[in-house]
Amino acid sequence: MKKIVTIIGARPQFIKAAAVSRVMQKTKLLNEIIIHTGQHFDDNMSEIFFREMEIPKPTYNLNINGLSHGAMTGQMLEGIERILMQEKPDWVMVYGDTNSTLAGALAASKLHIKVAHVEAGLRSFNYKMPEEINRILTDRISTILFVPTDSAIKNLEAEGYKNFPTLIIKNGDVMQDAAMYYAKTSEQHSKIISQLGLEKFVLATLHREENTNDINVLQRLLNALNKINAEIPVVVPLHPRTKKILTQHNLKAEFKIIDPVGYFDMIEMLKHCSLVMTDSGGLQKEAFFFQKHCITLREQTEWVELVEHDFNKVVGSDEEKIKNAFEYFRNKKSDFNINLYGNGIASEIIVETLLKN
Ligand code: UDP
Repeated sequence: MKKIVTIIGARPQFIKAAAVSRVMQKTKLLNEIIIHTGQHFDDNMSEIFFREMEIPKPTYNLNINGLSHGAMTGQMLEGIERILMQEKPDWVMVYGDTNSTLAGALAASKLHIKVAHVEAGLRSFNYKMPEEINRILTDRISTILFVPTDSAIKNLEAEGYKNFPTLIIKNGDVMQDAAMYYAKTSEQHSKIISQLGLEKFVLATLHREENTNDINVLQRLLNALNKINAEIPVVVPLHPRTKKILTQHNLKAEFKIIDPVGYFDMIEMLKHCSLVMTDSGGLQKEAFFFQKHCITLREQTEWVELVEHDFNKVVGSDEEKIKNAFEYFRNKKSDFNINLYGNGIASEIIVETLLKN
């Protein structure tokens, strides 16, 4: 039986790995061992996803968090290498674009262990984003790149991947698999809509460094959300990093802030909201999965097909642009029945490929 070591550490990775892990368990042909790097550690940023999404308990938890990028990546590299030398897996699986992704890929490739990168090929072309550095480097040292979109394939081609021995497979988006699977039962598990008394509302999240590190940017975003909140209630499950910065700088919000929620609550809010506003990568796609427009509070997006099809507007932190996008989408009707991210079988394709290689 092939042995796979999965390396995860941050919230979006738990969601992506949940979809793939479920298929691995079903086939019974792969032995998956999970390393949790500890990047996210609060119950509502980590444990809740393992419980709700039935992700197997990690065999190892490195408990590395709250450090600078270099220190965090370095410590992860050391911890992951030690485990890989003992476990000697056939494959290491890494997801997305965090420090855990890069540390996992680097540790494995130096030990000549094959690396599969899920959600590969995405680019924002903004080198100031830590995620962009992690993506580019992880892709370059991976054995197989599982790419979600045509634009991701084009990005890789433009970087010369035709000349590299990397296997590139367009498998669709594992987040679509997760959304489709867990949406079937989310209503049974979540009471968030009635608990918060939500009717017409905007669902927003805010946590990326480009928006939280500069207080002026953060203040502009708060102003914009406050203005929209005066028209339609805005609900923000707030990331701990943003919460800490708001407290430190005594920044006040007029909209509703709640603690981060689990995936079932998130799906229910996605089903019921009028619009999504976010700087999250994953949430931009989830808005589309649940047929909602999205205003992206960043200067670039990796999910360019959403913009091309007019489901998403990328507005940065410009108050005027945010307000205009809100007015544009507020009563807009769109046909979301277009296949941009596969048929919900992205995880099956990954598992089949790993079994063959
Ligand atoms: N999410 C969640 N609870 C929350 C906020 C987000 O379950 O309170 C989910 C969201 O639905 C998406 C993922 O977390 O699946 C996105 O993660 P995040 O925004 O932290 O990271 P990014 O996608 O920007 O890498």
